[in-house]
Amino acid sequence: MSYQNTSLLIDGKWRPSASGKTLAVLNPATEEQIGTVAHADRSDLDEALAAAEKGFKVWRAVAPFERGKIMRKAAALMRERADNIATLMTMEQGKVLNEARIETLVAADVIEWFAEESRRAYGRVIPARGPGIYQIAIKEPVGPVAAFTPWNFPINQVCRKLSAALAAGCSIIVKAPEETPASPAELLRAFVDAGVPDGVINLVYGVPAEISEYLIPHPVIRKISFTGSTAVGKQLAALAGQHMKRATMELGGHAPAIVFNDADIAGAVKIIAGAKFRNAGQVCIAPTRLLVQDKVYKDFVGQFTEAAKAIKVGNGLDADSKMGSLANARRVAAVEGFVQDAIGKGGQLAAGGHRIGNKGYFFEPTVVTDVPKGARAMNEEPFGPLALISPFSTFDEAAEEANRLPYGLASYAFTSSTKTATAIGAEIESGMVAINNVGLALPENPFGGVKDSGYGSEGGIEAMEAYLITKFISQTGV
Ligand code: NAD
Repeated sequence: MSYQNTSLLIDGKWRPSASGKTLAVLNPATEEQIGTVAHADRSDLDEALAAAEKGFKVWRAVAPFERGKIMRKAAALMRERADNIATLMTMEQGKVLNEARIETLVAADVIEWFAEESRRAYGRVIPARGPGIYQIAIKEPVGPVAAFTPWNFPINQVCRKLSAALAAGCSIIVKAPEETPASPAELLRAFVDAGVPDGVINLVYGVPAEISEYLIPHPVIRKISFTGSTAVGKQLAALAGQHMKRATMELGGHAPAIVFNDADIAGAVKIIAGAKFRNAGQVCIAPTRLLVQDKVYKDFVGQFTEAAKAIKVGNGLDADSKMGSLANARRVAAVEGFVQDAIGKGGQLAAGGHRIGNKGYFFEPTVVTDVPKGARAMNEEPFGPLALISPFSTFDEAAEEANRLPYGLASYAFTSSTKTATAIGAEIESGMVAINNVGLALPENPFGGVKDSGYGSEGGIEAMEAYLITKFISQTGV
């Protein structure tokens, strides 16, 4: 299958940018250019804003029951087209085909969940203080949304925002990732083909900072949603605050995975290694600081190292590859830097540590043990295939280390004690905690962080709330 060039989607039309400018798209497994993506300028953004304003008027008037029908059709199209879409994603992002396929199919589940929720955007009737008074709180769509999404899950990151916005009755302008543009464009295509009216969904690419600086303050836009790094998230949240725009911020993480003496070690190794090296570690909820209790430390390190070494790295399109390339050259340089710094500060390299070959952004699944807390990777999000394993003795020590960083997105713990599991659930400062599993991203569950990992949720009923406003009406007869 050949890769396709990506256009903008504005007011129901797939078209090049007004200037005709494009950006190159590379295959990270080969470093070769495989296509282009249209680069929007100010005039394109103005058209997208006008379309979103018009689209909002149309879509908010469509009954939730009808919105749901169109959305379910889009979900069906994603399932029908999953093989082709997954191939595009692997070519532009590098992840293995199986992961790309799962991401595409999960998008259908996300769409269906929000399609159903659109019918349940309930308000309430509030008992009045006198007869003949009706007090009602109703939910209304917040208005046109500007959404900014990254390259690690090109479809999923768009899908959560787009589906919640559409279910609530909002229109949206999506600024999708320039490095992985074709697969998210296919997601929007499924909605267009399913019958979403012109102007309701719009898709642009260009210079991220230029687009966000123009869209966030713009009076048409009422709601911002961003997924990406904490540093950028803080800038965009500040801009949103300055203009009194509601915002959801899904930012970086640095997940602890705490393995207690009484855990099933082989099971924990399998689950943590799977989650660590999925998408070559470029996952905001990836387990990063593996904290292992002293009695099982040696055994865990041995088994985990074997698991890392056994992973076959290769072009994501090859059926036997279990981990693909990193998504871009920045990640290779960053992961190399984290590894060298950790070793320089006393960490022990147990597996990997190097780039593979010199064509394509492949990096070995890497394990560094006994890493000092001062190592950069113990403080900054590595966002790559790097597992850092450190020992601990007591529950309090593990909890203190888990809560040490300003991040608070995901946390994991492995134990056979209900008492320890309950204590971990209570003690850890993070938006999500998984105990003896890593099941955190299903559409029906809340998904979001605390502290520097952001605010708001991208899953469950909380995600719908973010796109709804509450209007209170007090009514008496004339
Ligand atoms: P980056 O921090 O510049 O960009 C991260 C994302 O934000 C990209 O999608 C980018 O297009 C977007 N972005 C950057 N500046 C923006 C702006 N001013 N306005 C709107 N969007 C903007 O760098 P990067 O190299 O792409 O990624 C580096 C780091 O970002 C990673 O190490 C990781 O910590 C974080 N990241 C997090 C997620 C996540 O799922 N939370 C996804 C991708 C990247």
